[in-house]
Amino acid sequence: MTQVNLLELVQPNIKKLKAYHVDTVDCETMLHANESPYAPPEEIIEILKNEPKGFQLNRYPDPNCDGLKSVICENLGVDKNQLVIGNGSDELIQLIMQIFCGPGDCIAFPEPTFAMYSIIAQGMGVEAVKVPLDEQWDFKSQTFLEAINKHKPKVLFFSFPNNPTGNCFSESALTEILESFPGIVVLDEAYYDFSRTTFLPRLASHNNLIIMRSLSKIGLAGLRVGYGIADPEIINQIDKIRLPYNSNTVSQTIAEKLLRHFGSVKKQIDSIIQERSRMYTKLSGLDALHVYRSDSNFLLFKVKQEGLSIFKDLAENGILVRDLGAHPRLKNCLRVTIGTPQENDRFLSQIKNLIQPSKLQA
Ligand SMILES: *Cc1c(COP(=O)(O)O)cnc(C)c1O
Repeated sequence: MTQVNLLELVQPNIKKLKAYHVDTVDCETMLHANESPYAPPEEIIEILKNEPKGFQLNRYPDPNCDGLKSVICENLGVDKNQLVIGNGSDELIQLIMQIFCGPGDCIAFPEPTFAMYSIIAQGMGVEAVKVPLDEQWDFKSQTFLEAINKHKPKVLFFSFPNNPTGNCFSESALTEILESFPGIVVLDEAYYDFSRTTFLPRLASHNNLIIMRSLSKIGLAGLRVGYGIADPEIINQIDKIRLPYNSNTVSQTIAEKLLRHFGSVKKQIDSIIQERSRMYTKLSGLDALHVYRSDSNFLLFKVKQEGLSIFKDLAENGILVRDLGAHPRLKNCLRVTIGTPQENDRFLSQIKNLIQPSKLQA
């Protein structure tokens, strides 16, 4: 029998981490994770049923993801050697840090932003330099460049649009950074389909730029498919350390079909963008909260009461949103994903009741 002190064996940076917490409360209306409220269109399921070869699950997946890469290349006008498929774009964040950061190195990003940049960095013993966003959740290039000069990060991460604030950062500030930073610049365009704004054309003039996209927000969160577009040399390095079968057969096949038959998905996205605008207008009309403008599939808002109690009340009424109050810059802030028109109506009527009870009684 062997009984060792397991915790003594664990690396100090890992010991400090907590497992990523996901609210698993089962609510009827799930508006907490920026998923699509819509299942993939029926026609895609039909196509899969009629696949002559089926999924061949006894065989390993295509390690080069050729079919999926083909359709992405056609859509974006890039070459296969500029493309890497990840098991979600989260995996690509990790691979990028693994390639460009060693012990004692740091990365930098604006804050508040997507939690995974910091979590992955900590897991790898990489320092994270957080540059505070201004009141409009934007930044001046000057502020960022000062932080760069001081800390000399190897990689910059920009969530564009930014999760959880929802906005795209100023393109001129980003451009100035891109023009002068000699390290790697990652533009995480996970919400591209809702902003329809991209830095993709800059790849031609900046070989240190990496664009990341994801299918998680447009209906395939369960499949874990993300991809990176970058200079062939960067892709070459990623391919060296990526596990050979990181993207599985089912994910590759369904993602390819979805991208080849994008018409119905685009309609779903159009509806979400329309609903975002409707939700924004309705929430703007409420005195008891402040809603921020959004280029993504969610809205950030700040309530004048205790955010956590509003979060709990919503959950008790069957609506799950994301409580962001743990972050010092996001006190009493909640994030709501845009759902179907019916889900949004349900949310709007609940939030009105919860934040303005006095008006209701009057
Ligand atoms: C959701 C999200 C991702 C994660 O995408 P996956 O492809 O599901 O791993 C990446 N970046 C940002 C900013 C996100 O909000």
